[in-house]
Amino acid sequence: MNDSARKIVIVGGGLTGLSTAFYVRKFYREQGISAHITVLEKSRTMGGKIETLHRDGFVIEKGPDSFLARKTAMIELAQELEIEHELVSTNPNAKKTYIVKQGKLHPMPSGLVLGIPTEIGPFLKSGLISWRGKMRAMLDLVIPARKNKADESLGHFIERRLGSEVLQNVTEPLLAGIYAGNTYKLSLNSTFPQFGEVERAHGSVMRGMMSGKKPVETHSGTKRSAFLTFRQGLQSLIHALVHEMQDVQQMLDTEVTAIDQNEGRYTVRLGNGDVMEADQVVVTAPAFVAADLLRPFVNVDALDAVNYVSVANVVIAFKRKDLEGIFDASGFLVPRKEGRNITACTWTSTKWLHTSPEDHVLLRCYVGRSGDEQNVQLPDDALTQLVLKDLRELMGITATPLFTEITRLFKSMPQYPVGHLEHIASLRQQLQTQAPGLYVTGAAFEGVGLPDCIKQAKELAMDMADFTG
Ligand SMILES: Cc1cc2nc3c(=O)[nH]c(=O)nc-3n(C[C@H](O)[C@H](O)[C@H](O)COP(=O)(O)OP(=O)(O)OC[C@H]3O[C@@H](n4cnc5c(N)ncnc54)[C@H](O)[C@@H]3O)c2cc1C
Repeated sequence: MNDSARKIVIVGGGLTGLSTAFYVRKFYREQGISAHITVLEKSRTMGGKIETLHRDGFVIEKGPDSFLARKTAMIELAQELEIEHELVSTNPNAKKTYIVKQGKLHPMPSGLVLGIPTEIGPFLKSGLISWRGKMRAMLDLVIPARKNKADESLGHFIERRLGSEVLQNVTEPLLAGIYAGNTYKLSLNSTFPQFGEVERAHGSVMRGMMSGKKPVETHSGTKRSAFLTFRQGLQSLIHALVHEMQDVQQMLDTEVTAIDQNEGRYTVRLGNGDVMEADQVVVTAPAFVAADLLRPFVNVDALDAVNYVSVANVVIAFKRKDLEGIFDASGFLVPRKEGRNITACTWTSTKWLHTSPEDHVLLRCYVGRSGDEQNVQLPDDALTQLVLKDLRELMGITATPLFTEITRLFKSMPQYPVGHLEHIASLRQQLQTQAPGLYVTGAAFEGVGLPDCIKQAKELAMDMADFTG
């Protein structure tokens, strides 16, 4: 190793950590800066929440299962890694999604954009909302807009514009599914800032979302699809990153326990007692870990304020011949007030044709959301029984599963509180002055989606290349 090379340590080998390493390596090379990059990962594998299991011809995602195509950072990274040809689209015949109402599956009306009605006809015909609820939602077209840009909760925003019935029956199950959150606690500006923007610009969130509606962007090699994934699972991306960065030191089973600063450089302390020296350190671990590592340098209230929700992901395989009924949708969502054990169910083998052998059905059920996480702790048998009970009552499934795969993701879903963006900006400002060369990024900051993590990593890598030490 060249002794004058800039030493960069990245804490965490999830998608954020690996893509930070990838882009730091790329941008430093482009600028002719010599660098020695190390990624330190506490667990036995790289990838963090991303993990794919291949079993009996099924492709099973234990964590995330796909990503939004319109956020292009993931597609760009796939292109740079030359694995773009591995991308697959959703089944075009599985466009429908159901929402549970009083124990029955109702199709979601067409024209919902992020849970906001943009086509009046289908919305008025939907069985999901009462007439009173529909009339209340229509008031969005006349209620004066709030001009103030101050943050509020997502739940209060939707209730203020569209009423509580649309919030509870449609928007909450759809949007809160992404965060497993309580909409009354989630920051609007950090989760769906476009809602506030269109309210201010168009005087109505429905009118604003209608005017902003544009066809889903396409990209070469895949059909028009809002979501994409990789044919062999999302872990293909992790394998490609690990393989591409052979020259980056990648250490598994290596926990970072503390970071000290001395004379403008950093000492990174490891769980086994070893230390590493660094000029720049990037912390991509969850907020509750980052808070402990950064506490000696700055006020970490912004990190302490990010709560995490635990969820479980119960994947169940059946033989097709054992099931009755048509699987004609991507799955269903369960509003909180239905009081079910599962919060959503993806009909994986219908939505993603590559995930199952043809004569089988693969379902993925989610358990746990903010304020309702106790079932995640249940032993496998008890958890499976709760999920099967819901599938029996909601879908009429009585068949015995071929197998079940349970993944518990404890404290895995960050909840951005109201005011999060300002708190984070202030934290970063303090870091810049009090600990230059020390950075923090990842899913706890500016978006939990996989493309959001890559985008943040790329932007940070660009800033880091400008660091003069
Ligand atoms: C159940 C579930 C489903 C999801 N589905 C989707 C989806 O379909 N699409 C989508 O876009 N997003 C989805 N997400 C969100 C997305 O998966 C995450 O936001 C993203 O993977 C986070 O990546 P990250 O690298 O920031 O964090 P992580 O993946 O959490 O990586 C952080 C890493 O840091 C390591 N670490 C922690 N502490 C230390 C330490 N002290 N020293 C060293 N290493 C440490 C951890 O072991 C971990 O590997 C889902 C999330 C969950 C939980």
